[in-house]
Amino acid sequence: MNNRYDCNIILDLLPLSIEHMVSEETQQVIRAHMEECEDCRQIYEEMTKEIDIMAETGKYKRKRTRKHRYKKKNTVRMMIGGYLLLLLLIMAFCLIDICFF
Ligand SMILES: [Zn+2]
Repeated sequence: MNNRYDCNIILDLLPLSIEHMVSEETQQVIRAHMEECEDCRQIYEEMTKEIDIMAETGKYKRKRTRKHRYKKKNTVRMMIGGYLLLLLLIMAFCLIDICFF
């Protein structure tokens, strides 16, 4: 009972399914469709193979951690900048206090 319409929906959902970004219900629908549909099963296998290769070579993981590290570094830099600004303001107020009062 498969038609092109079903396949297109399943193929749209496949990348999300591989990343475990779909609900268990959706996962079941995808699995059930692939049991009956040779085309989608083949595409799914190719997609998972690609991700396995990327994970093996470390490309996939490295890409993620580098992005994460960059974000962390950026947050630390922003925090240091904030503290320095606060310190500068306090010093300025103290100077004004000493000079004028
Ligand atoms: Zn299909």
